[in-house]
Amino acid sequence: MAKIFCIANQKGGVGKTTTTVNLAAGLSQIGQRVLMVDLDPQGNATMGSGVDKRKLEMTVYDVLLEVASIVDVRVHSEKCGYDVLGANRELSGAEIELVPLERREKRLKQALAKVDKEYDFILIDCPPSLSMLTLNGLCAAHGVIVPMQCEYFALEGVTDLVNTIKQVHANLNKDLQIIGLLRVMFDPRITLQQQVSEQLKGHFGDKVFNTVIPRNVRLAEAPSYGLPGVIFDPNSKGAQAFVAFAQEMVGRIL
Ligand code: ADP
Ligand code: MG
Repeated sequence: MAKIFCIANQKGGVGKTTTTVNLAAGLSQIGQRVLMVDLDPQGNATMGSGVDKRKLEMTVYDVLLEVASIVDVRVHSEKCGYDVLGANRELSGAEIELVPLERREKRLKQALAKVDKEYDFILIDCPPSLSMLTLNGLCAAHGVIVPMQCEYFALEGVTDLVNTIKQVHANLNKDLQIIGLLRVMFDPRITLQQQVSEQLKGHFGDKVFNTVIPRNVRLAEAPSYGLPGVIFDPNSKGAQAFVAFAQEMVGRIL
């Protein structure tokens, strides 16, 4: 059965999507079977996996509203080596349309149950909010991976997220735990980043992943080519860090 992880942080622009697609590509490269689920109506993880969101006939939206089965909606990204359950703007409607429906926060969980034997990892890219969509992700997952920048208010933000995860754990999903905090866009030359990094380790201990993802322009360029950095430029520092992170994940989980 697949290990199902949400990549979540209620802040935007912190590296969730970059982490999701590069971890997916890194895991695929080391022989893991991966499904990437895009839960953000912006569809960045879909595009960044080489799947054109504008050309998708069906998306995760149809799966959440139970109009279609996940088996018919997922597509395989040949270039990236993993399967994609894509999203586009249509998904923003789901937020409101799900509200009156029964089992509204468990829709993704039930859909994934149909395919979880086919994968080793299912990675869910969450939108930057605590919405009905994120809640579906958190209810479906065994764990949460939190990408974060080592900035001044980082600890505060993480505390809010940790509290949310505790609430979901208590009320909706007993399996849910924090797998770890991933330091991303890290620049060791900036003293403040080093200080916050040390604070994080002091506070969260071994919940902080050993791997650190550096700030690396190749990771930022890759999406415009419809590729994760791991595939766009395998020799770049950013790509190598994500492959190391994939190895760390496999080591922690298996
Ligand atoms: P989120 O999904 O949390 O909104 P993204 O993954 O889209 O965040 O990242 C925000 C921006 O930062 C994007 O333009 C992305 O290309 C860039 N970025 C992310 N990680 C890195 C990194 N390690 N080095 C350089 N740029 C990065
Ligand atoms: Mg994103």
